[in-house]
Amino acid sequence: MLQNLMDAYWDKLDITREEKMQIHPSSLSSLCLREYFYILSGKWIRLNPPVEMKKLLSRAKTIHLEIQNIWEELGILIGTWVCLNCEAKVDGKRPVACPVCQKSKFIYSEVPLSCEKYLMIGSADAILEIDGKRGLGEIKTINTYKFFKLEKPETQHIEQIHCYFLMSGLDFAWVIYVNRDNGKYKIFEVARDEKIIDQIKVKAGLLKMCLEKDVPPPLNYDSNNLYCKRKCMTSSLCREHYQEVEDWMKEGETDDKPKRKRGRPRKNNG
Ligand code: SF4
Ligand SMILES: [Zn+2]
Repeated sequence: MLQNLMDAYWDKLDITREEKMQIHPSSLSSLCLREYFYILSGKWIRLNPPVEMKKLLSRAKTIHLEIQNIWEELGILIGTWVCLNCEAKVDGKRPVACPVCQKSKFIYSEVPLSCEKYLMIGSADAILEIDGKRGLGEIKTINTYKFFKLEKPETQHIEQIHCYFLMSGLDFAWVIYVNRDNGKYKIFEVARDEKIIDQIKVKAGLLKMCLEKDVPPPLNYDSNNLYCKRKCMTSSLCREHYQEVEDWMKEGETDDKPKRKRGRPRKNNG
């Protein structure tokens, strides 16, 4: 009985988010640019993930809260605190008492960030201040196998953190990898690298331009690329448009405003 109730809960749980024309750092750094274009432009609709994936994401959320609670207890968590009694907002370290109602229960709200120029939006897990040094706190959960092999932050996470640097103006981060199987963790420090910021600006700028023109970014991989073959959500749509982009690129060499010879790609619900 309980088993059925819980199974039905996970089955029904819908964690898809409505995609708007906004670039999220986690997707920008983990997806192929073309793949992300298809999703953001509404040509490909992400499906609600399988139950096992939903459970993993839920577990990751719980671990995030656990780590944020530890940072809060340590008094190093900086941000916006919302009073649970009157919803007044207080910035900085956790206040002892609400300046409006004097109650002392608060909830930490993750740090909202945005950059209009690159249509970028996101929220960092935390801002921390340790011995006067301020930086972002980023929490990642991984499995035992990855944890064992991990010697430095993953490239996609460094890129994601640099998106937050770009949006926040901060130049330092602590990234904590938590083994979701046993709670062990490894912490790395990441300093701002202007070269990575420049790469992100190029990438986000290209994606923005492609969204405005409604033309997919050029192919970046050859046909044997393993990501294309095994992981890409939108590979069927990509191949359909391959010739179209080639035509556009050729036209672009002589004409700033490419005329598209074919009609709009058909909508695909995945
Ligand atoms: S098939 Fe490859 S190039 Fe095309 S969208 Fe997918 S990952 Fe990108
Ligand atoms: Zn209050």
